[in-house]
Amino acid sequence: MSLICPGCGKPGKGVCTRCYLQRNPLTLKPFTHVFCDCGRCLYQGQWIDNNAKCVFMQIKNNIQTPLDVRINHLKVEEEVDKGTLKLRVQVKGLYRGEKFRETYVWQVPAEKKSCKICSRKSQGYYEAVLQVREDVIPQISETQLTKTMKVRGGLDYYLASKDYAFEVARQLRKRGYNIIHTTKQAGVKEGKKIFRHYFSVKKKVD
Ligand SMILES: [Zn+2]
Ligand SMILES: [Zn+2]
Repeated sequence: MSLICPGCGKPGKGVCTRCYLQRNPLTLKPFTHVFCDCGRCLYQGQWIDNNAKCVFMQIKNNIQTPLDVRINHLKVEEEVDKGTLKLRVQVKGLYRGEKFRETYVWQVPAEKKSCKICSRKSQGYYEAVLQVREDVIPQISETQLTKTMKVRGGLDYYLASKDYAFEVARQLRKRGYNIIHTTKQAGVKEGKKIFRHYFSVKKKVD
């Protein structure tokens, strides 16, 4: 037995997918897209080093689907135009078990801010120094590097984040370098001692 869609007269199981989606379009709960020139984006209070992933997660969390619709796949195209994030979102999904594909165009406010790392960098702030006394060139993200200093026997890399410095040190250790980690007190902030981390990078001596 086939039922006719009251919207368009198409025979089937009642309201057809097209008519249903026309009456119950997917919507996007507005959010503010906060981004930095370096490509980081603010997501749930954290700066994420992947703008595309960040926008995708925001859409995933804020997309409103009607009751009978399930989303299987989202494809996002994005563009920031002045204070606006322009989105073109392709949705693949199911309506009562039937596949559909729709494209939605949405806009949300966009706000440019300097992320934690970039504002630290502009203030010359650093938490760690990588003291490289070998020919090795460590792979350091441009956004993490506050400054580079030529010193006797090598280079000192000043890094904005100690977590990042630990990660670079770990990579170098993996590549067979000997890393010696030391800390030095660099002052007191709000009653807490602040430490700087130093990583001496040398060839492994067996
Ligand atoms: Zn219909
Ligand atoms: Zn930044």
